Amino acid sequence: MIDSLFNRTHNENWIKGIPASMGIALGKAFVLKPELFFVVENGDKNYDKELEKNKLLLAIESVKHEYIESIAKINVESTELATILQSELMILEDEYFLSTIESHISTNTSAAKAVYEEFEKNKTLLKQAENQIFRDRITELDNIEKKILKNILNKQTIPELEQNSIVVAQSISPTDFLWYVDNNINALVTEAGGITSHLAILANSYRIPAIMGVSNATKNIADGDYLIVDAYDGLVIINPNEEIVELYRQKIHQISEHINSLGKLINLPSITKDKVKIQLWCNANSKNDLNTALINKAEGIGLVRTETYILKHNKFPEEEEQFEIYRDIANICYPLPVTFRAFDIGSDKFIDNLLKKEENPALGLRGIRYLLSRKDIFQIQIRSILRASANKNIRFMLPMITTLSEVTESKQLIDEVKNELRANNTPFDNDMKIGVMIETPAAALISYELAKLVDFFSIGTNDLIQYVLAADRTNEFLSDYFNSIHISIIRLIKHITDSAKKYKIPVAVCGELASHPSFTEILIGLGVDELSVAPPLLLEIKERITNSKYKHCKKLVDKLLKNPNEYDFI
Ligand code: PEP
Ligand code: MG
Repeated sequence: MIDSLFNRTHNENWIKGIPASMGIALGKAFVLKPELFFVVENGDKNYDKELEKNKLLLAIESVKHEYIESIAKINVESTELATILQSELMILEDEYFLSTIESHISTNTSAAKAVYEEFEKNKTLLKQAENQIFRDRITELDNIEKKILKNILNKQTIPELEQNSIVVAQSISPTDFLWYVDNNINALVTEAGGITSHLAILANSYRIPAIMGVSNATKNIADGDYLIVDAYDGLVIINPNEEIVELYRQKIHQISEHINSLGKLINLPSITKDKVKIQLWCNANSKNDLNTALINKAEGIGLVRTETYILKHNKFPEEEEQFEIYRDIANICYPLPVTFRAFDIGSDKFIDNLLKKEENPALGLRGIRYLLSRKDIFQIQIRSILRASANKNIRFMLPMITTLSEVTESKQLIDEVKNELRANNTPFDNDMKIGVMIETPAAALISYELAKLVDFFSIGTNDLIQYVLAADRTNEFLSDYFNSIHISIIRLIKHITDSAKKYKIPVAVCGELASHPSFTEILIGLGVDELSVAPPLLLEIKERITNSKYKHCKKLVDKLLKNPNEYDFI
């Protein structure tokens, strides 16, 4: 209907993208210009050299101050981070560096461009260095450059967002997204981004309608344009007429009626027609998620991405702060079980100043690898989780597992912390369940051995698909890999559930696939015990479960496994 309306009204302007977080929003566009827009300066302008030098000095002083404050705040145990910050501070204090930038300004260049040129020159030199230590310094230069430029360009004040703006950007980091959420954005439109990227997951959590992979969005949309973001159909409509706006108001009304009609399922059990119980849990990345999960009577929380806190605050929380966060969540949900996942940072969850830039971060020091390389940080998290577990409704989960030793080493650390707590008479749940994410091909293939070591599995299909199919989850051109289910994934999930059954441990799916109604029957047929879904979709999934028959689902999976060609699953 909407398409036909467009055909009749040629003056309407609309562009398509990939729906990444469902919903509809109306509002004014706020177009984020690429950060380095000053690079295109054409040199025609006459700069006031003294003014530009002043801008530079002020920016450097303020960034130095920022560093000094951060170093003072760092926990004494984080010596590595303090060393990195100290060495970045030394670069800022280097007089030669400063005078070279000033000399660029003397040749009629703006302060920002002078900083950019000098840093780029040095980064290019370092890239050519044979020694890795020198190449590692590029990250440090990047960090400092960004900070100085943000300061000169006053980036902190650029987003003077009107309430309910729709942010249009080439791409934004999960960290920046959380900043925009605090500033009440209404929707998000990006040129880059895949549907299982962490940005998309966060947008879902915060109920911010999002469309990604919208080519040339920042060129075709101007600041202040009135937009309709239809994140069901992946449509961005620019400056629509009143007829279309009215049509969307009706659509919003119909959707809310449909959601209300699902309300009748809230108190029904989540079982198939032939009485097979499927646990229906929720993922929770925000207070909103928790509320929706509880209102819709989720049976537990299957995934709390604890790293969200770090993304928001750009620092590791202190033990007391972590303890309070975990304890409060566990109390709100009590007696329902809550699954806290150890910090899964790295990959697209990059945190300025805390992580080193890597050439290939999705295959880098991510999740458990990072935590075992920083046992000081890991121990603090374990202690906070254990302290919060006294009421016995917490499960703990390890991300990005690829080897058995990562699990045994982590369990040993957990035991050490338990002994410490015991010695101090601090209460905790001695039987707290420990599980692993099965999200790498290696973990799936050693699931038989892993099942002996842990109390539960949770399949992270977002990463499992990314790593099995070699398809970057943040790449907008590869969304189809995540919108369908390849036979290799079906075979691996079957292997995982078979391994788990041998050792009688439950298997959950907490990746986005669990929230896709079209895959519910396949997951049931594969023998998955628990689906942990995005809270707004819980009732849709429950509708699927209660309308399906386990026997039929099993037959469907048997057929798929025997004849994948027939079903176009390869
Ligand atoms: C997954 O990989 O499916 C998962 C749930 O974890 P995350 O999306 O946080 O990587
Ligand atoms: Mg994952």
